[in-house]
Amino acid sequence: MAQIIDGKALATRIKEKMSTQMPNLEAKYGRRPSLYIILVGNDEGSQRYVKHKLAAAASVGMDSRLIALEPTITEKELLDLIHVLNEDPLVDGILVQLPIPKHLNEYHIIQAIDKGKDVDGFHPLNVGELWQGMHGIVPCTPKGIVQLIMSTGVTIDGKTAVVVGRSNIVGKPVAKILLDENATVIMTHTHTKDLKAMTLLADILVVAVGKEKLITADMIKPGAVVIDVGITRNAEGKLVGDVDFDAACEVAGYITPVPGGVGPLTIAMLLKNTMECFLNHAEASTNVSKLWSKIIESRIGTDK
Ligand code: NAP
Repeated sequence: MAQIIDGKALATRIKEKMSTQMPNLEAKYGRRPSLYIILVGNDEGSQRYVKHKLAAAASVGMDSRLIALEPTITEKELLDLIHVLNEDPLVDGILVQLPIPKHLNEYHIIQAIDKGKDVDGFHPLNVGELWQGMHGIVPCTPKGIVQLIMSTGVTIDGKTAVVVGRSNIVGKPVAKILLDENATVIMTHTHTKDLKAMTLLADILVVAVGKEKLITADMIKPGAVVIDVGITRNAEGKLVGDVDFDAACEVAGYITPVPGGVGPLTIAMLLKNTMECFLNHAEASTNVSKLWSKIIESRIGTDK
């Protein structure tokens, strides 16, 4: 019987650790990390996600702000707002909740966010760094998936990892991170000829598709770590993943539930990314202050 990987509990531990760091950070740098979330329009799903993200940020003591915009906002107006936030030294993280209305070009919007404030890790420069093995700001869901795998104690190095789905936000980045952790990675998608033959090779199976019961128990290698990223609502209106959970539990070694698996880690990693951006900004401004002090000291020294 598989051990359930409790994403909620792991995310809680990560957030608790973060909240204990806040008073020290405030004492050292004079402020707390700040996360600005831009929500365009009235999509109910997006409103729900944003609410969770803001609540999580507040729960660890971060400054979090929602900027809710009318769906009719023009691309120029949105870009102007992003530029203002980019220039504001008190803003550490900027997140534009996706999807955005069709008249706004998603690529233009993501590209406009300062690379050092791009807490989603979607900016082309952050994506490029990930693919060059530099791991600057890594997208939240893939980063959380790797934490979930590591929490089992199973080593990734040398294992065969199969990723089902090749989206830019989950499949591709998680495959790259697993590759960097020295797994042998197989990526699969709709053109894969024999999906079952591939998934049966997986010591680590990550499924990010959005199709209920795509992965059945007979497609899982006994003892495998199974990470179910998919979230869809089934005919009864229940949230379900891509893996036939109850049957898969009989075969897998470890498995994430849906809900309560990947989702909570995605939010915890958003907070981690915000923290990383904050530390980079705070350290950079401390270094600039130190440099100025040195310059002023040396000038005073010369004048004497
Ligand atoms: P996406 O952009 O729609 O990509 C889905 C991928 O699945 C595509 O690469 C597609 O292949 C592949 N696929 C579809 N049917 C397949 C099949 N029968 N066999 C093999 N591959 C198949 O989706 P996404 O944004 O990555 O999200 C995937 C799921 O994860 C969704 O349910 C989403 O809601 C969920 N999600 C959860 C979280 C979280 O925090 N829990 C975060 C992000 C996403 P092609 O490229 O060939 O079309």
